[in-house]
Amino acid sequence: MNKIKPLILVVDDTLTNIDLLTDVLTDDYRLGIAMNGQKALAFVDRNPPDLILLDIMMPEMDGYEVCRCLKKNRKTRDIPVIFITAMSDTAHVAKGFDVGGVDYVTKPFHSLEVKARVKTHLILKNQLSMSARIFESSLDGIIVTDPNTVIQIVNPAVSEITGYSAEEMIGRKTNMLQSRRYDKFFYQEMWNTLTETGNWTGEIWNRKKNGEIYPQWLSITAIQDLWGRVTNYVGVFHDMSEMKRQQDELKYQASHDALTDLPNRNFFQYRLMDSMANAERHGEMLAIMLLDLDNFKSVNDSLGHTTGDLLLQEVASRLLLCLGEGGFVSRLGGDEFAILLEDVRNEERVVKVAGLIYESISKPFHLKTHDFFLTVSIGITFCPADGQDPETLLKNSDIAMFRAKQHGGNSYEIFTLAMDREVTRRLTLEAQLRRAIERDELMVYYQPKLDLVSGCIVSMEALVRWQKPNEGIVSPAEFIPLAEKTGLILPLGKWVLQTAALQTKKWWDAGYRLRVAVNLSPRQFQEKNLLEMIHVVLAETGLPPAGLELEITESIVMENEEMSLELMAKMSAMGLHLALDDFGTGYSSLRYLKQFPINTLKIDKSFMDNVPGDDENVAITSAIISMARSLKMQVVAEGVETEEQLHFLRQLVCDEIQGYLFSPPVPADKFSVMLKENKCLPSY
Ligand code: C2E
Ligand code: MG
Ligand code: MG
Repeated sequence: MNKIKPLILVVDDTLTNIDLLTDVLTDDYRLGIAMNGQKALAFVDRNPPDLILLDIMMPEMDGYEVCRCLKKNRKTRDIPVIFITAMSDTAHVAKGFDVGGVDYVTKPFHSLEVKARVKTHLILKNQLSMSARIFESSLDGIIVTDPNTVIQIVNPAVSEITGYSAEEMIGRKTNMLQSRRYDKFFYQEMWNTLTETGNWTGEIWNRKKNGEIYPQWLSITAIQDLWGRVTNYVGVFHDMSEMKRQQDELKYQASHDALTDLPNRNFFQYRLMDSMANAERHGEMLAIMLLDLDNFKSVNDSLGHTTGDLLLQEVASRLLLCLGEGGFVSRLGGDEFAILLEDVRNEERVVKVAGLIYESISKPFHLKTHDFFLTVSIGITFCPADGQDPETLLKNSDIAMFRAKQHGGNSYEIFTLAMDREVTRRLTLEAQLRRAIERDELMVYYQPKLDLVSGCIVSMEALVRWQKPNEGIVSPAEFIPLAEKTGLILPLGKWVLQTAALQTKKWWDAGYRLRVAVNLSPRQFQEKNLLEMIHVVLAETGLPPAGLELEITESIVMENEEMSLELMAKMSAMGLHLALDDFGTGYSSLRYLKQFPINTLKIDKSFMDNVPGDDENVAITSAIISMARSLKMQVVAEGVETEEQLHFLRQLVCDEIQGYLFSPPVPADKFSVMLKENKCLPSY
């Protein structure tokens, strides 16, 4: 870098000495000359040399004095001074070192000796300044303490990292930097190692001036003197926060999906393994749900990947919302997601989650200017029943999911090893029922009710039927209780009401002013907006309230008498007819019965068994009929199958009958034919 020769200042008051020294040094060095102390100091101030050769005996200001001045000044104190003098007695030599000289040459001197001493001290000075520069420019913080950990020197990097200036630290103990994260045993261990080996290296969390706690990589070394006494400790450290942050970031990226920010497949498998071990320990059950969006590929192809990506992100956040804290959602890739449910007490819980997911995914996705609709297929497995390792479980979930796709998508399937037949059947039925509504597999049949005076059709009961693909008709006795239990009865019941009301309105328009009776389930009865829903259906279909009768069972009414009374009063005020279904099978309180605005009692068909042969049934039936008459209610007998039953009921002056004798429940078109043909009871 600097090719200029080192500058040496020769200070002497005799010319001969100056000439001699100049001869010796001029080849290797640049030289400055000063003939007295004052001039020497002025020279140094202007032009600091690399070394000074200083005569002691000079008038006015002697060499000792000059040296003292130089050492006092921060700018000049590191310049090595070699004394040159004729006074070689020990006292003088000692005094020379005392005031800060580094060496001594006695006159008359030998030229080689002068050269050698000058060179040695220039090299030493150079080495020292190199160390100082390293210390100053090091990016690692360096703290030097005394044996009692009192800070002596710090380099600029320490201030850079900790925020403390050198002045704030020097003189204080290093524990000013402690984070209070560790107990005293930690520091004890540290000191033990340091004392035994002379070094301690490791990660440690310390505190900055602003209070921030940060990780640093620290190496402490004990410095000993020649006698093995510790004179200093040197701590060298750097801040690891950034490195740690980068490591964390990398770890996160490796375990998460960049698009949705959900855990990725690796993370899912890892987590699954973890949960499995945990579940095994506690004897718990896990469920894995594998989700695949239906027809996502075509969405992606037709709308472009950007839109596809937005959809996936929205699906991800909906899944998270559905599960809340209760599940672990991950994106396995493409349009495939996996959910892990822990501590699953029963299969129903999983089915419930599946239900929530359907509900959420079926809501429109608002993207840019368009609304999109998505459906999803889900495969479900249970652990440990369906597999002992993540691969098997995922594979089996995939099989179940594929089966759901085969059934046309928008449904879930449960991997069947998991459960006994009955549960599987019920859960499968539920899965199928869920899609039955959307797929138009439900129908409403109508069973006529006949007036016993005229013998003609006066009303009909709407009864739901489920036409299962390739399997025929399923009885409501089988699926209504299930729908009730799962809440599916709400959409189902609404659909029946809409369909029946619409059909009845058509009959009204054709001139048949019939009343349609629709069954209400307990769950519907408890639904807050039931009245509102009925209102809307009537308004939308145009059927007058007088065209609608609601069939309610005794048990609903008796469960919460006051609430029922209020609701039924409102229904009645709307102009709707109310019938008490399956009457006689529950425990109606006659006192309450009187208060309810009930128009009709339907005698349960079980009381028609062996009538008129069965005395008990005969007695009950006649009692119900006479009671109804006194309460000014109409009576309908259900399940009338024989002429004998009909005859018997006519004798008791029952108002209406319903049963296979005249007609089973039939589809709307068949019912229309009956109306057109004006079909009546044969004996009229
Ligand atoms: P329910 O309301 O008591 O309906 C009368 C049931 O008796 C109907 O059974 C009907 O087909 C049957 N039935 C009619 N005449 C005869 C007969 O002469 N002999 C015999 N043995 N049975 C006869 P279905 O259609 O199987 O319905 C069973 C039950 O399912 C209904 O009992 C009702 O509680 C419920 N249900 C049907 N459709 C709906 C609906 O849309 N909503 C609700 N909530 N429940 C419904
Ligand atoms: Mg009924
Ligand atoms: Mg009934």
